[in-house]
Amino acid sequence: MSLETISATVECPECFGQVELVEVMQHEIVQCPECGVDLEVVDIDPVRLELAPEEEEDWGE
Ligand SMILES: [Zn+2]
Repeated sequence: MSLETISATVECPECFGQVELVEVMQHEIVQCPECGVDLEVVDIDPVRLELAPEEEEDWGE
């Protein structure tokens, strides 16, 4: 299990705007500042974003 973080600027898969990531971990959910969509950091080497599932999931406390 990796706890590495990465900082990068990547393209939003939804609106192709620039999303700035600051020390995010893999599987972290970030929000696009352009279109407001929730994005999951599916990979950090290289960094890759995908649309997060819409339903709210309870990840536990
Ligand atoms: Zn966007």
